[in-house]
This record gives sequence, C-alpha cells and structure tokens, in this order.
Amino acid sequence: MNVLCRCGKPTPLKVAWTTANPGRRFFGCSLYPKANSCRFFQWYEPPFPEQANIVISGLLKKTNKLSERERMLKFLAKVSTIFQFTFESGFVHVQIDKQLFDSM
Ligand SMILES: [Zn+2]
Repeated sequence: MNVLCRCGKPTPLKVAWTTANPGRRFFGCSLYPKANSCRFFQWYEPPFPEQANIVISGLLKKTNKLSERERMLKFLAKVSTIFQFTFESGFVHVQIDKQLFDSM
C-alpha cells in the first residue's frame, strides 16, 4: 500500500503510542515534525476495542518500569566498578577510577 502525502512523497507506516491509540498504525508525512511538513495523517487500521487499549497501556507501563529498573541496575553496576571503598582507622577511603568515571 503506497499512500502519498500532500508533499507528494510516500508516507511511512508509523505506530502511535498515545494513551488513546496505543500501538495503532497510521500513515504520516515523512517530514513531520519538521516545519515544512504538510502534516498529512491517515489511520491505517480502525480503532482498537477499548479493552485492547487498556491491556496494551497496562503492558506498556510494565515494560517502561522494567526498562527504568534495568537502566538503574546497569548504572549502579557501573558505579560500583568506579568507586572502591576501604575502611581504615575509622575512616572511609574512596578511590575513583578516573578513566571509567570520565567514560560515564
Ligand atoms: Zn508531506
């Protein structure tokens, strides 16, 4: 299916991730959101049933939480390799691997 926008260019099939239409596909101007976009927009498929939107939104929230958690764990794993703590005479000494620190 080849849909042209008002610019005369083929429009790519995109996926909406809005609360009202999570996962619903549409054709949109390939130049959007640039200022010279014709803002052409056309749904590719009919609206999903309300229950499907609720389920998809719930799954998206869970996925986002998991990826946030994964990013935090990766960050903490990296941080833990940069700092080395030693305890001596009642003091905490912190050594920082400058090369790793600069690469963050
Ligand atoms: Zn266009």
